[in-house]
Amino acid sequence: MSDYVIIDAHVHTYQTRQVGLQAKQGNAITDYAGTIDELLPIMEKANISRAVMVNMLPLAEMKKAAVDRLPENLSQAQRDDALKEIDTRMLGRLERRNAWTCNLARENPNLIPFINLDPLQDETTMTAELIDKVNNHGAKGIKLHPGAQWFYPDDRRLWPAYRTAQEMGLPVIFHAGRFVSPETFSRPKNFVEVLESFPELTLVMAHIGLGNEDEAVSLTKDFPNLVFDCSAIIGNVTLDGDLTEERLTSLTREVGVERVMFGSDFPWYDPADSVARLLRLDFSEEERRLLLAENAIRIYKL
Ligand SMILES: [Zn+2]
Repeated sequence: MSDYVIIDAHVHTYQTRQVGLQAKQGNAITDYAGTIDELLPIMEKANISRAVMVNMLPLAEMKKAAVDRLPENLSQAQRDDALKEIDTRMLGRLERRNAWTCNLARENPNLIPFINLDPLQDETTMTAELIDKVNNHGAKGIKLHPGAQWFYPDDRRLWPAYRTAQEMGLPVIFHAGRFVSPETFSRPKNFVEVLESFPELTLVMAHIGLGNEDEAVSLTKDFPNLVFDCSAIIGNVTLDGDLTEERLTSLTREVGVERVMFGSDFPWYDPADSVARLLRLDFSEEERRLLLAENAIRIYKL
């Protein structure tokens, strides 16, 4: 076991095994489902002192499923009412998911909550949810997943979230790069307008742009507040397109060792394996300290 202080800057947690396995959609790199009963012993075993929960909900997909289930014989007025009711229900689910994440962190002080916002929210709802969860419930940042939430990062419906996050000094972490489908939403190049419009915003591209790493690298010069986590790509697995240890090391140096946070993307990947792989990379002691904890402490103000 290493003596380093380790913070896992990218985990997902779920209320039950069933919900977690559903979210993983058959992905079987690990058997984990993302419950707290799994996560805490893993953290202990891997000497991970804190973990950042970047929980989210695929709200657009959930909404589509609900709309698809509406009976076909509704009048226009009935359908309008039903659609309104679905929106209200979806927004309620998002708020409950965020509240659950914040409550879990209150019960487990080694877990740090980020909350999810969604283009389905209007500006008032989005801003109020953010301010409430940060000021009253301990949220430390925002997680957004363009691929799973079906929006482009420069979608103006998210502008209130970015503006408020910039004002409040809150980091926003995005899934960046490849995603099952459709894969174009989260390409690093799609973030340029956000980066230009919110130059003081701490914008985190998870997975260093997974599959589009060179695009991520190309943005680092112009945007000093763009940072990264190495979750998923540091996972100790052999899949098509996986980065070699040499490439992981050179990529981290290209974007800047002080700009990359360690993360695992539990339950998709095993945090212990991810730590072990990072420690196999050819970094100095000082660089390891930055990657494993100090960058996260500074960037996420932990
Ligand atoms: Zn993730």
